[in-house]
Amino acid sequence: MRKKIVAGNWKMNMNLYEGLELARGLNDHFTTNPVGDREVILCTPFIHLAMVSNLLTAPGLSAGAQNCNDHKSGAYTGEISAAMIKSTGAGNVIIGHSERRTCYGETDELLAAKTGEALRNGLRVIFCCGEVLEERQGNIHFEVVKRQLDRGLFVVSAEEFSRCIIAYEPVWAIGTGVTATPEQAQEMHCYIRRLVRDRYGNDAALDTTILYGGSCKASNAAELFANPDVDGGLIGGASLVKEEFCSIVNAL
Ligand code: PEP
Repeated sequence: MRKKIVAGNWKMNMNLYEGLELARGLNDHFTTNPVGDREVILCTPFIHLAMVSNLLTAPGLSAGAQNCNDHKSGAYTGEISAAMIKSTGAGNVIIGHSERRTCYGETDELLAAKTGEALRNGLRVIFCCGEVLEERQGNIHFEVVKRQLDRGLFVVSAEEFSRCIIAYEPVWAIGTGVTATPEQAQEMHCYIRRLVRDRYGNDAALDTTILYGGSCKASNAAELFANPDVDGGLIGGASLVKEEFCSIVNAL
């Protein structure tokens, strides 16, 4: 059975001390209120990663990075490899977030290379896809998501794919306060699951966790998560506030 997951994406927020305080608070909360069958992932800035990874002791909690380099090692000043992430104890990495596609020009081909490198190093990949507003208005959102998945993710083997999570994040909903309706989310998640079935077969489709991301918060999480193909959320802004994030996990 596929996992139900809430992943927080801290983006470039909080200094080390603020981040550790939030992680400790969440760890304490989920030690006394166990997540049970669910999983909670904290995707922190690189600076926080090793310490956060080591302090998360509550069952079901783990840490992740927000990006990795596509090369193994070498002269890439300022970059972080998948092997380095793995060595912190963190088990997850976000690949293909729309902010990286837009702000840093990350192409589907580069994301395929990053995904491969992350998987070869034993990380679980949270692969993001999603259309911009003009693409939805132009009714090409299914086509856009298919292309992103075909080129960036579906190049991996079936075994590697079993260590991947997909996050559907309509770009028009990220950080805007505008959330996809539960119907829009379900429609796209169902489509993505069909694409997984076509590429990797029925069992893989049933086992794949597909998260929704984009202005998901405590007040709308339950109605989004109630959909059969929505297996949890990738949470940006609302993951920075302990009570809000805990309520979202609770809604799952
Ligand atoms: C994100 O950045 O992945 C995200 C979903 O952001 P927000 O929740 O702030 O819209």
